[in-house]
Amino acid sequence: MSDTFNAFVIHQNPDTAAKQKTIGSIETLRSTDLPDESVLIKIDYSSLNYKDGLVVTGKGRVCRQLPMVGGIDLAGTVLESADNRYQLGDRVIVNGYGLSESHWGGYSQQQRVNADYLVKLDAVFTTEQAMAIGTAGYTAMLCVMAIQDHGVTPQHGPILVTGAAGGVGSVAVMLLAKLGYQVTASTGRVDATQALLTGLGASEVIDRKVFNAESKPLAGEKWAAVVDSVGGQPLATILAQVNYEGMVAACGLAAGMGLPTTVAPFILRGVTLRGIDSVMANQQRRHRAWQTMAELVDTNLLSTLYRVEPMSSLPALGKEILAGQVIGRIVIDVNA
Ligand code: NDP
Repeated sequence: MSDTFNAFVIHQNPDTAAKQKTIGSIETLRSTDLPDESVLIKIDYSSLNYKDGLVVTGKGRVCRQLPMVGGIDLAGTVLESADNRYQLGDRVIVNGYGLSESHWGGYSQQQRVNADYLVKLDAVFTTEQAMAIGTAGYTAMLCVMAIQDHGVTPQHGPILVTGAAGGVGSVAVMLLAKLGYQVTASTGRVDATQALLTGLGASEVIDRKVFNAESKPLAGEKWAAVVDSVGGQPLATILAQVNYEGMVAACGLAAGMGLPTTVAPFILRGVTLRGIDSVMANQQRRHRAWQTMAELVDTNLLSTLYRVEPMSSLPALGKEILAGQVIGRIVIDVNA
């Protein structure tokens, strides 16, 4: 194993007048540059998530310290471990836990990570498939778990998935359909993604425009549950359409951070708005999510929703994901 390796490193932008406060590029690092953490991992793949888009374009204030190695997730093999839970050769994944925010992340051929953050990768997945799911897909699974834990079964009626052509949305469609739910996929790109979303199991693909208009506090009941990755006005409009005692698993803000709703859906229909955070989810929930995905995910179907790109493409891909142009998932091959 070479002592030097490549990583996508974010620095302060020396041009202080520029809008972009940070800039990132591929650099050569040495193993002595890595943080002092208990497990050294040889990384095969990371992935591109919405938050990664903010980091690699320098548009968001995600990194809490600089320099920072980007990439909120990773999959690879243990090279060294000072923690007896992990041995040389173990295949592991990390999602969140502040990677690319306060801890160096997965856009690197090697990384040292706190053993508490690791999850052993199930034998059914290759490291590439694990990152095809990635943080977006694992978050989709957390949303689906929340729907199941709320007691919503396929008999309760249709499930709406917003941002369906994106990372969280596309994996949510696939998982829900596999569990026997009737899935309505909402997307701004019906023509371009209808075949993909139907192939993943959506029974209906609708234009997201229908959720852009302000709604009455309560509208006709349509959804037993919702996986929402967009927030903003669409979420407010959708809340008014959720069935009596139905629920929304809300994980994202692609349409905005605000939520111009009323309390009517909560106090008159008993609707539950359940927030989903993948970053600090406990290990028990992570293990449940990954074990369930090992049982549910058809890897042939998974192969239809991602493509693999090299680290050198990150700046361009970051712009694409922030513009809502990425379809499905993008795996980053850190060794390409
Ligand atoms: P993607 O960019 O892959 O997907 C987001 C999708 O949202 C787009 O593909 C698009 O889907 C839709 N969208 C984009 N802009 C708008 C808009 N203005 N109005 C309505 N819909 C829009 O991102 P990810 O799937 O990686 O992440 C989705 C969201 O979830 C992000 O906000 C991200 O920060 C959040 N997230 C949160 C996590 C958590 O732990 N809470 C973990 C992971 C992600 P379409 O073209 O189909 O309409």
